[in-house]
Amino acid sequence: MSVAVIQRCHKCQVCNKKINTIRVITGTCRCKQIFCSKHILDHNCTFDYKEDYKMNNKLVKLTREKIETLY
Ligand SMILES: [Zn+2]
Ligand SMILES: [Zn+2]
Repeated sequence: MSVAVIQRCHKCQVCNKKINTIRVITGTCRCKQIFCSKHILDHNCTFDYKEDYKMNNKLVKLTREKIETLY
C-alpha cells in the first residue's frame, strides 16, 4: 500500500509542476504541502514558524536547565 503512495504523482501546489519522488522529500514544506524548488521558498505558507521558533527556544532552555541540574 505504501508503494502506491510513493509512486503517486506529486505536483507543486503553486505552479502544478510535476515533482519527482526524490524531490518530494526536499520539496515538502513544514506546512505539509509539496512545492517545486522555486515555490518551496515562495508560497503562502500556513506553518507558524514563529511559534515553532519559540518552541525550539523553550526546548533548548529546558535541556540546558536539565544539564545544569545534573552537574
Ligand atoms: Zn512551483
Ligand atoms: Zn509552507
